[in-house]
This record gives sequence, structure tokens and C-alpha cells, in this order.
Amino acid sequence: MKKYDVIIIGGGLGGLTCGAMLSKEGLSVCLLEQHSVIGGCLQSFKRNGRTLDTGMHYVGSLDEGEIMHQYFKYFGIIDQLHLQRLDETGFDHFHFSDGTSYRHAMGYERFIDTLSEQFPEERANLTEFCRQLKKVGELISPEILKEGRISNGGVEYFSTSAYEKINEHISNSKLRNVLAGNCGLFAGDKLTTSFYEYGMITHSNIQGAYAFSDGSQQLADLLSDKIKANGGKVLLNAKVSKIHLDGDKVKCVELNNGEKVEAEHYISSLHPSVTFSMLENNTVYKKAFFTRINSMANTYGLFTTYLLLKPKSLKYVNQNHYLFNNPDVWATDGNYKGYNIPSTLLCMQPSQTSEYTNVVTLLTPILYSDYIKWEDTKIGHRGEDYKDFKNRFSEAVVDFTCQFFPNLRNCIDKVYTASPLTYRDYTGTPQGCAYGIVKDCRNPMVTQFPARTRISNLLLAGQNINIHGCLGTTMSSTVTCSEILGSEYLSKKIGNA
Ligand SMILES: Cc1cc2nc3c(=O)[nH]c(=O)nc-3n(C[C@H](O)[C@H](O)[C@H](O)COP(=O)(O)OP(=O)(O)OC[C@H]3O[C@@H](n4cnc5c(N)ncnc54)[C@H](O)[C@@H]3O)c2cc1C
Repeated sequence: MKKYDVIIIGGGLGGLTCGAMLSKEGLSVCLLEQHSVIGGCLQSFKRNGRTLDTGMHYVGSLDEGEIMHQYFKYFGIIDQLHLQRLDETGFDHFHFSDGTSYRHAMGYERFIDTLSEQFPEERANLTEFCRQLKKVGELISPEILKEGRISNGGVEYFSTSAYEKINEHISNSKLRNVLAGNCGLFAGDKLTTSFYEYGMITHSNIQGAYAFSDGSQQLADLLSDKIKANGGKVLLNAKVSKIHLDGDKVKCVELNNGEKVEAEHYISSLHPSVTFSMLENNTVYKKAFFTRINSMANTYGLFTTYLLLKPKSLKYVNQNHYLFNNPDVWATDGNYKGYNIPSTLLCMQPSQTSEYTNVVTLLTPILYSDYIKWEDTKIGHRGEDYKDFKNRFSEAVVDFTCQFFPNLRNCIDKVYTASPLTYRDYTGTPQGCAYGIVKDCRNPMVTQFPARTRISNLLLAGQNINIHGCLGTTMSSTVTCSEILGSEYLSKKIGNA
């Protein structure tokens, strides 16, 4: 049996960025992905000849000199990505049912100026709030990487509530909600969301938000190609079913077909509860540990409604639109229930070849309790009542969206949907939650997973470590790989690329 330096379980962004870093630094890597297509949430798929994205609609910090740009430069893929820079005068628009609309603009000066036009009395408060936001966002940067550090710490922000921080600085209740209007990007919750998570994501978008032209699959494919070009292996249809332990070390992983693969180090980018459920001959963890992991709260899921549009019926608009039924943008169990749609994020698919869009994606938060009824079913075998639920839910989403964009209805040709159960069965994420484990600012030590485990050669990666999303997951991979390569070495290599 060939022994690799590192085996990586899972071929989503977390696994792929770990594979790209480790293979670039000369280690022999074998990445194991259960599906026939690489990418996890990065995957795009075709319906009626249109490209639909699974879970990556826009990404921040991609201007030259910004952190995500630097990562993609280090991977050697920045020049090959087809990116669409979003509207700098308003990349995110927020529409409320009282007819009011606001926007987040790119660059702090423009961000403050734009919001101050509608909230002139809040200019000074906004300026101070943005100073706080910047303090979080600037905990990471290419300059810090060059100095040999992944980040400048900032643990205090993990235990600071985003909701309270906004309220502390901003007096106007509408502006408070507009500042948190992008909460769909982090399953914003008044009680749990930290200022770290909110700040990293919001800052990164203010610093240069981009969408992928013709889909996010390109990112997965480019990273996979890089791993292979660096001498690594990417095995598809390779579902890991068991992680065999020998004392406090992993001996090998076993695939669904019984094949065993060995390495010096193992990285799992799967949800921790899934990773730990695969341990065989475990003498390291006690039962209480598994009980704790399995009972950790996950974020809500997103119900995705894809509108396939009639040809040339809608010009591409270079902005995302958040629609709110409720003046209070934060998720609470009371707001998110049944077919009463409280909010939806509308993203358009940019194309390299057309000024028109042919797909509009609507992302709507949905609680687990709304689809728990079908949790024991598998894709394609969930029954007629499930189809009915999906139809009713997507119709409610379309009706809600058309309250804000009435002309959209005439453009719709076909509608496709994906519920969180679709995501669960596809990516293996428990409950099909959008962003993994809830990192709770009231209890960050318990809900923030470290990359190291008590199994000496098993590391964790992916969106459950640090924060989720393109930036968060890539940073997590850096933390994970630095356990093997050394933090100073890896940071400098990325920063000086
Ligand atoms: C609907 C939606 C929209 C989103 N929009 C954005 C956005 O606009 N911008 C942004 O930055 N982030 C967005 N995100 C978040 C982002 O997609 C994720 O944080 C990130 O892609 C997670 O990457 P990952 O590698 O941790 O997990 P995943 O992408 O879930 O990858 C896990 C991989 O492991 C594989 N796998 C599972 N079990 C096994 C096994 N036993 N053996 C082998 N392989 C296995 C899966 O098939 C999958 O490929 C969105 C997420 C969702 C759900």
C-alpha cells in the first residue's frame, strides 16, 4: 500500500485549499472526495443548459492587495479565475417591505458616505463603527502573512456579540438593521453571532466583493488541477467510511469499497460530528465527547430557489439584493417558520459572454423543524408530500420576491429548488445546515473547534474550524496546514507569493 504524506477527506473548499497548500509545499497528498464531481458547496451543475451554483455566490477581499486575492495568487490561480467585480456604489442592496431601500458600498469612505446620505445624523457613529469593523477585518492581511503570522489574534472579538456591538455604536434602529442586513451570509443570530464573524465577512465585502462569472465550479476545478500539477492525487468516487485508529494515531482510512489508504497525517474537512462518527477502535475519546459533538447546534439551512429565465428577458445587475418582510433582519425562531418568508437573498448569475442573466438564485433561510419530517428520506425518495412542500415553499419565495421585483415574474421560464436536505445528502453536512456549527459568542471556547484533535495525526479543516465561507474556510485551511508545515513558514510563503 502506497503511503502518502497527507490524506485529505472531502473535496470542498476546505479540502481543496489544504491540498493545494500542502502539495505546493512539496508533500505528497491524496484527496478523497465521495462524489464524481469535485467541489462540495463550490459545485455548479447544469439544468436546461444553465449553470446553477450550489453555495458560493460572492466573495470578498478580492481586490489586488487584499487577503483573498493573495491566497488565490499563492495557489497560482488568480489569473485564471473569471470574476465579476460587483457594483462599488452598492454591491449589497437591502429592501424592506415598507418600501425603503439602502445599500452597502465598497471602500469604507464610500460605505460611510452612502449610508450617511440616508442617515445624516449617524455619520459620526457610522465612522466609529467602521473603525471597529476595520479593526476586526485588519486582523488578517497579506502584510501580516509576510511577517510570518496567519492573523493578529483578536480572540476578544469571538466573545463580542455582533448585535450588541451594532447597538452600542448606532442609535437609529433602521440603520442597525441595514448594517446587519447581510446576516444571511452568516446565519446572523442576535444571541450567538460574534463580532468576529460579522466583522470578517462584512469587512471583506467592503474591501472588494466579486461574483464568479459562469459559476463557482471553476474555483474547485482550478484548485484540483493545481493539486494534480503539484504531484498530488485527487480521487473521485472515494467515500471514506471508516477512520481506523491504532492507539492515539490514525492507521489508515477505509473507503466504501473496502480499499484502505495510509498516510503520515490525516486531515478531515467534514463536519466534526461526521468525522468522529467514522472512528474505529477508538480508545481516545469518551462517550461524553460524542454526546457533546452530536448535540452542538448547527446554523439554519438555506432553501434555494433557482429561477431559469426566458432568453434575454433580464439584464444582469451587478448587485445582490436582500429582501426583508420584517424590519428586524436577525433570525429568531419566531421569524422563520412555515411558508411565511421573512427574508430572501437574490443573486444573479453573471456571464462572460452576455449582458443578460439567465439564472436568478433566491436563498431563503429555513428552520430544521420545517423539514425534519423528511429527515429519514434520501434524494429522489422523499414522497409526494415533500414535493408538495418544496413547491409551496418555492412559490411563497417567488411571491415574496415579486413583491419587490414585480417584473421578474414575466421573465421566469422554469423553477428548480434545493432544500437543506438536498445539501445534506450531497455534502454530508448534518441537517443540511448552511454554515456548520453555530459559533456562539457566549461560549466561544466550546463552540470554536481547533484544528488539532487528541488523535495525534488527525487534523480538522473546513468551515467548522474558525469561520465559514470562502475567506473563513481558506483561513481555516491555513491554520490546519500550519500544524504540519509550521505557521511562520506557511504564512510567509503565502504572503510573499
Ligand atoms: C446555499 C449556500 C450559499 C452560500 N453562499 C456563500 C457565498 O456566497 N460566499 C461564501 O463565501 N460562502 C458561501 N457559502 C458557504 C460556503 O459555501 C462554505 O462555507 C464552504 O464552501 C464550505 O466548504 P467545506 O469544504 O468546509 O465544506 P463542503 O463544501 O460541504 O465540502 C465537504 C466535501 O466533503 C465531501 N464528503 C462528505 N463526506 C465525505 C466522505 N465520507 N468521504 C469523502 N468525501 C466526503 C462532500 O461531498 C464535499 O465535497 C454558502 C453556503 C451555502 C450552503
